[in-house]
Amino acid sequence: FIQLDNVSKAYGDLVVMDNFHLNMKSDDRLVIIGPSGSGKSSLLRVLMGLEGIQRGTINFQKQHYIVGDKNKQAKIVDHTIQKKIGMVFQHYTLFPHLSVLQNLILSPVKVHKISKTIAIDKARALLARFGLESKLHAYPSQLSGGQKQRVAIARALMLEPQLMLFDEVTSALDPEMVTEVQNVMLQLAEQKMAMIIVTHDMHFARNIASRVIFCANGKIVEQGHPEKVFTSPKETRTREFLEKVL
Ligand code: ATP
Ligand code: MG
Repeated sequence: FIQLDNVSKAYGDLVVMDNFHLNMKSDDRLVIIGPSGSGKSSLLRVLMGLEGIQRGTINFQKQHYIVGDKNKQAKIVDHTIQKKIGMVFQHYTLFPHLSVLQNLILSPVKVHKISKTIAIDKARALLARFGLESKLHAYPSQLSGGQKQRVAIARALMLEPQLMLFDEVTSALDPEMVTEVQNVMLQLAEQKMAMIIVTHDMHFARNIASRVIFCANGKIVEQGHPEKVFTSPKETRTREFLEKVL
């Protein structure tokens, strides 16, 4: 489904992806864990086409998607693939001057030329699914953190992505709001959505992952089934990290 071969990326001298190899199946839920600064967000931004890689290739459904390029810019071979990927960030990225409904339909209508009626129907259905039907005309400032993140997830789903990327989407939330956002993600997992999730919440990681990847110092140190990585990690580096965070 997604395949990374020999992917390397650096910011100046700082290597954040050192020869990454990764193979993801269409029903996989990859959870990426690792210390701060290990390159987790960089990997997601690369997959979203927001940043380039210096070496290697990324394929999506066996099509060339991104190739390495000495220059900093992302070298996207196939822009139609970029539209199949949705991303949600740690800090709410909703447009503050637009209502929830307007946030959801803006890009589908303006950029992707989907008819407004169809976009509104879709937005309503998604919001209802996430328990937000009453917030259709609310503005982001009138929502709780958990509601904002659920809206952000709904917005990312408007274009029916085939892969969803989540970068620490609950780490800025108060504890009582974490569960409602995680439940939405678990709901997507049940529907076999392909997901790559960066999280510092090891309990959630274990719950949702089909595969866990531990990154440190720009390298994939270890990957495997969550039970295996969490209960009997192979690498010392993984064990040390888990001892600190569990
Ligand atoms: P965290 O858990 O703190 O979110 P992370 O694993 O997501 O960390 P990244 O954000 O991918 O880490 O950053 C990896 C390294 O690259 C860090 O040392 C960071 O300072 C550096 N870095 C990230 N973005 C840039 C940039 N645009 N220019 C230069 N250096 C960067
Ligand atoms: Mg990060």
